[in-house]
Amino acid sequence: NADVAMYRAKERGRNNFQFYTPAMNRRATERLSLESKLRQALDDDEFVLHYQPKIDLRTGKIAGTEALIRWTPAHEGRLVSPSTFIPLAEETGLIVPIGEWVLYTACAHHKTLQESGLRPMRVAVNISARQFEPQTIVATVREALVASGLDANLLELELTESLVMQNPEEIIKVLHDLKDMGVHLAIDDFGTGYSSLSYLQRFPVDRLKIDQSFVRDIGNDPNDAIIARAIISLGHSLGLAVVAEGVSSEEQLAFLRDNGCDEMQGYLFSHAVPVDELKNMLERDKKLAVN
Ligand code: C2E
Ligand code: MG
Ligand code: MG
Ligand code: MG
Repeated sequence: NADVAMYRAKERGRNNFQFYTPAMNRRATERLSLESKLRQALDDDEFVLHYQPKIDLRTGKIAGTEALIRWTPAHEGRLVSPSTFIPLAEETGLIVPIGEWVLYTACAHHKTLQESGLRPMRVAVNISARQFEPQTIVATVREALVASGLDANLLELELTESLVMQNPEEIIKVLHDLKDMGVHLAIDDFGTGYSSLSYLQRFPVDRLKIDQSFVRDIGNDPNDAIIARAIISLGHSLGLAVVAEGVSSEEQLAFLRDNGCDEMQGYLFSHAVPVDELKNMLERDKKLAVN
């Protein structure tokens, strides 16, 4: 047991004990068990995609969706949020097969929605850094499009600033290959990393997503309001559409609309929902009152 382990570690050498506390032991064990569960989850079909609608702020209509992964471990009957397992999936490389599953599934769901007679809907998929392998990402995306039959211009990839700034010259080439295919590109969580503005101008992206940390206090914190306004005007001067994420109040909505933001997503309109519920919203043509 843990106490014995610590005692042995102390016995073994001068400073060993500090690398081997019971708490660390427990964490390592938990991590290993989470990792093996995560490995199994893909085989056992325990992941699901939920979709959060994005609203066009001029019309109030659903303009597209963002695919957000959830995990329902067997016999546990609860949804595990991606912030608890995506980082581990990244560290272990499991993000690669998981990410391929997400890409294919999101495309397939949207192709099915379209075939059921609903108007074509853009779907955005999050691509994390480890998953964005310059050698393979283009082929992976193409395979998902071919296998699902979805039009490339209905797929958007959400990339983070830190990813694109990692190795900008190489990334720019890959982004052009994706654009040439017809895929849309967005920079997620904009404002939290640091982008070089001269690179930003050279990235062939279509959208900036204002990080929700700036949206949260838009009505109370003058600094957040200034940043949000600056991102909107920066995006527009570069010819990009701007999306606000995490919009959960009428006050935030009014600010964004008055400042010319193009799209929003957030709890004010809807959480991320299972595909059947999304279908239902689209059939009812659920709208947001924007004026
Ligand atoms: P993200 O891409 O920035 O996604 C936005 C997150 O904000 C989502 O959390 C969404 O549920 C949440 N959100 C939306 N509206 C509101 C709101 O009004 N208020 C608040 N407080 N939150 C809101 P979620 O689904 O837990 O995802 C967290 C992060 O996990 C995502 O951030 C993304 O970075 C990552 N992630 C999710 N799904 C995937 C995936 O399929 N692949 C990869 N690589 N990463 C994913
Ligand atoms: Mg995102
Ligand atoms: Mg985001
Ligand atoms: Mg985020």
